[in-house]
Amino acid sequence: MIRIAVASGKGGTGKTFVATNIFNTLVKRNIKCLLIDCDAEAPNSVAFFNAELSGRHEVTQQVPVIDTDKCTYCGRCREYCVYNAIFILLSVRMIKVIEDLCHGCGACTVACRDGAITEKASSLGSVFPFTRNGDLQIIEARMDAGVMSPVKVIKSAIGQISNHYDIVILDAPPGTSCPFIQTVAAADYTILVTEPTPFGLSDLRQSAGTLRIMNKQFGAIINRAGTGNREVYQYLENEKIPLLLEIPFKKEIAEAYSVGRLVSDSDPFFAEQLAGLAENIIEKYGNSNHQR
Ligand code: SF4
Ligand code: SF4
Repeated sequence: MIRIAVASGKGGTGKTFVATNIFNTLVKRNIKCLLIDCDAEAPNSVAFFNAELSGRHEVTQQVPVIDTDKCTYCGRCREYCVYNAIFILLSVRMIKVIEDLCHGCGACTVACRDGAITEKASSLGSVFPFTRNGDLQIIEARMDAGVMSPVKVIKSAIGQISNHYDIVILDAPPGTSCPFIQTVAAADYTILVTEPTPFGLSDLRQSAGTLRIMNKQFGAIINRAGTGNREVYQYLENEKIPLLLEIPFKKEIAEAYSVGRLVSDSDPFFAEQLAGLAENIIEKYGNSNHQR
């Protein structure tokens, strides 16, 4: 099995377009493939497929509950909390857990010597499995509104991967912060989707820099090729980052995407390019050890 993440430094570069079309191409070639939408803040990969929702797995974390009858207002829990999620106002003997800031680490529970802290489960989001023709093919990570970080929801979605699949495609969240890192850390190879503009180049630099620090293998796809300038090409060459594919800027592609159609269904040449790209990655980077 190989896990391939499709990522981009910023939203709107065509990451989901690439991920869904690679997945579609591979499934049509009878390869056992799983698509995980890790863009938990705004997942939409499943919209391109006729898929059936087949369950829901709620992702929770334990947050502290403080019994003010037992609390002595000693302040130890607040000292232990590196996320500043405990607020104490001694003058009026007030103590509050700011659940939005809590990371569920449990340090405050350990800190309290007066038995004033218990814990309760707090919802972070859900993982939704979708089947196609009775086979689990798509998993969607979706965080709850107002939750600070989707990382645990993404981790839970990635944790659903079984050995049943030959290829897992991870549609990564945009950016280079923790959700991106959580996703690409689980991948054997990352495809960075960019565009030939100064914004595309700036974000590509950040993504590539992060992947290099993580010691991860990656290459780039340039979407909307033919627009912008050549600086992205120069950067890839200077940095010796493989250019995997150029996707031309075409009205037909934008039109198909805007109505939820997969270009790989109507353009056999494009499907062939994606299949070849996946084949090359599998040949070079398959059977790596997976980090979780
Ligand atoms: S569980 Fe951790 S993050 Fe949450 S309030 Fe306690 S110490 Fe802070
Ligand atoms: S450590 Fe326990 S007793 Fe001390 S302030 Fe926190 S909850 Fe209250």
